Amino acid sequence: MKKLQYLSDYLGRIIHVRHKGKLLMLLNQVLLKMAIIFIVACSACNAEQQNMYTSPDAVSVRPVFFVPEGQSAPTDLMRNLAGRHIKWSQETYSKLLAGRDTFRISPEPPVICKGKYDLSCYKKLPENGAPNFLSEILDYLNMNRFNCPYVFVIIVMNEKDHFPNGGGRPLNGGLNTGGGIVLWNSFNLISCPNNQSTLRHELGHAFGLPHVDVYGYPMNSNASIMSYNRNHHTTGFRESKTPGKFIPEDIRALSLNKRVFPNLCFDSIQDVPKDYRLAPNIIHLGPMKIPNQAPYMVLASTWSGEAFGSKASNAVLGQINTSEGPGNTYNSDNMWHSEHVGKEMASLEMVFPVAVEIDKIIIHSQHSGLSHEAKAVEVNIIAHDSVLKVAKQRLVGIDAPVVFKPTKALRWRLDFKPSDSGYVVIRGLEFFLDNKAVFPPLVNLAGAKRIQPRTEKEQSGEPAHPLD
Ligand SMILES: [Zn+2]
Repeated sequence: MKKLQYLSDYLGRIIHVRHKGKLLMLLNQVLLKMAIIFIVACSACNAEQQNMYTSPDAVSVRPVFFVPEGQSAPTDLMRNLAGRHIKWSQETYSKLLAGRDTFRISPEPPVICKGKYDLSCYKKLPENGAPNFLSEILDYLNMNRFNCPYVFVIIVMNEKDHFPNGGGRPLNGGLNTGGGIVLWNSFNLISCPNNQSTLRHELGHAFGLPHVDVYGYPMNSNASIMSYNRNHHTTGFRESKTPGKFIPEDIRALSLNKRVFPNLCFDSIQDVPKDYRLAPNIIHLGPMKIPNQAPYMVLASTWSGEAFGSKASNAVLGQINTSEGPGNTYNSDNMWHSEHVGKEMASLEMVFPVAVEIDKIIIHSQHSGLSHEAKAVEVNIIAHDSVLKVAKQRLVGIDAPVVFKPTKALRWRLDFKPSDSGYVVIRGLEFFLDNKAVFPPLVNLAGAKRIQPRTEKEQSGEPAHPLD
């Protein structure tokens, strides 16, 4: 800014000498305006850079009409049908969750995205073309899998047949990691009788719900919308006589997706009927592979050993449990347990698929409410094989933050000071920039406790421009 001001003054002086008069003032104004535009553009660009890998605070549902080459744009009838169906699903979710919460619908208009190829090309691609539709839509909206604040309901324009089959997935897997997709097609939208029951099921997937068979329940007869129970089928806009509902496992999982359902808390008394045997484990879906997008993964390794069947990789992008008794709640599937390191530090190295900027890490250590907490941490980055120390801090508590100046790197190393036992157990790590999550874990039971419901104003969710 100073330099431009100087340039403006300098040019101004030259012109002033030669011409005097109003030209000087005009030029001064133009140059100043240019300087302001330049600075605003730079700060916007910095913010954009910063937000590239941070997760959205909230996720809403947004319809997308994907128009492959040779297909027509959606008609008003189609836009209207899609809008009504999404709205009906929204109301149904609210009813099934006893009015505690439902998903929000984006107030923005539906996206109309022109595809690069024709339908015959997409038909040859894996997973019904879902990763490619998604990749093109993210590019079109200039966002990525990390910062995408939408569950896209993608309606692929297709005049002739049922391609692509219905489907749904969270982009990054897990239960609170960002956006998702539902796959649908315009042929079914117009002609299929049970669009609504299918949409409820696919939205469930997009919010992170698996099928009920993962918990050992029968797919053809279970009461959950996440089964294939034909008795749940709707007919047009007519409800089934026996509509699907959420079983306790579904509500428990949805309650962890705070970006979609910030006000939903799982209540083991209200939500679990007497004599119901709740499946003990939360099962989640995995991240998608998306063309042109970095993978949702962080590599972790250690030279401090992986004791008692644990893995260093369990410390990142896994499930973070709480450290509670009674008894031994150590779980080798989702914790990292170092070998005995005595008074030495226990080290964990992480490589992200992209250079991430971070200014806070929450360290969840210890298990069973008593064993092997980390007493202190040193945060380091590794660049060109040299190690740079970013922070060194005593850890107060077993779910403790370490805060440092924003630092960008691909490779990070955390050195933990063990408790008197000479071991360290890490239940999981959370990364943040400016209090926004970076690569959030797939399931976070320890962090769920921390999140506050939205304020009333934010909850109202009344769209500024209703869907047409
Ligand atoms: Zn399914």
